Amino acid sequence: MSILLDGKATSLKIHDELAVRVKEIKKEGGKVPHLAAIIVGDNGASRTYVNAKVKTCEKVGFESSLIQLPEDISEVALLAKVAELNNDASIDGYIVQLPLPKHIDETKITLAIAPHKDVDGFHPENVGRMALGLPCFLPATPAGIVELLKRYEVPTEGKHCVIIGRSHIVGAPMAMLMWQNAIPGNSTVTVTHSRTTNLKEICLSADIIIAAIGKPEFLTGDMVKEGVAIIDVGITRVADATKKNGYRLLGDVNFEEVAPKASFITPVPGGVGPMTIASLMINTLKAVDRN
Ligand code: NAP
Repeated sequence: MSILLDGKATSLKIHDELAVRVKEIKKEGGKVPHLAAIIVGDNGASRTYVNAKVKTCEKVGFESSLIQLPEDISEVALLAKVAELNNDASIDGYIVQLPLPKHIDETKITLAIAPHKDVDGFHPENVGRMALGLPCFLPATPAGIVELLKRYEVPTEGKHCVIIGRSHIVGAPMAMLMWQNAIPGNSTVTVTHSRTTNLKEICLSADIIIAAIGKPEFLTGDMVKEGVAIIDVGITRVADATKKNGYRLLGDVNFEEVAPKASFITPVPGGVGPMTIASLMINTLKAVDRN
């Protein structure tokens, strides 16, 4: 029987903890954390994610600002908005929801965000500090996964952790956190990607698998050993006429096949997704101190 790593329930606990902290801050006359989110254009998934972030701010007692910009905004105008937020003392941290329209260079925007307000943890200064184990904003999804592993006391020390995917926002930072000299951490890490030739063999030797590929139900039962701990990062919308919104969400793991063999497993939805938002809130609280 596998233990379900319930990201939804864990994130609700974190929300409660943050709400208590906000009440204390208010009592002490301190600054209430303020998160801003820039969204460009009208991407349905991005809008859903940003709305969830704003709603969570309201729930925990943070202030929030949603800045909606048109799809055809120029890169120069977006950079000007970023500069404005960098200089706005009322805002502790902000995110620019990705992906951005094709005519805007995402790297340029990421580099323009002041590192002390970069609560997504994507700026090279924060990535570099994370690599060195220095205080920083950890990227929200990997940080949420670490928090989940910690709260469920999933053994990581000395374990073989296989990460599928090497993106800058999930796979690569996840690897750094799993090999760091910390708990959770101290794993022996293998990072795999689309050019990996013997993926099944590598996965069969894994004690922990973190799948961040974006291919629904990619990891099947024959690719994992008994007792493996599974973190499913993938979220793909798949058309489903039986659902009110016309789609359902699938992870990168074939849950029905893999769960019976796993010691721990995250569901999709309700696993990594809510933990990502909880981490963003934790970073926003931290931002008040950093500013
Ligand atoms: P990404 O930038 O598209 O990266 C996907 C990675 O998977 C790449 O490194 C790619 O390899 C690798 N890959 C593709 N096909 C593969 C294969 N057959 N075998 C092994 N590796 C393969 O995606 P991402 O941004 O990391 O996101 C991954 C998934 O997580 C998506 O479904 C996304 O929606 C989801 N996500 C969820 C959250 C959350 O909060 N739950 C947050 C972020 C992302 P190459 O580098 O060689 O191309």
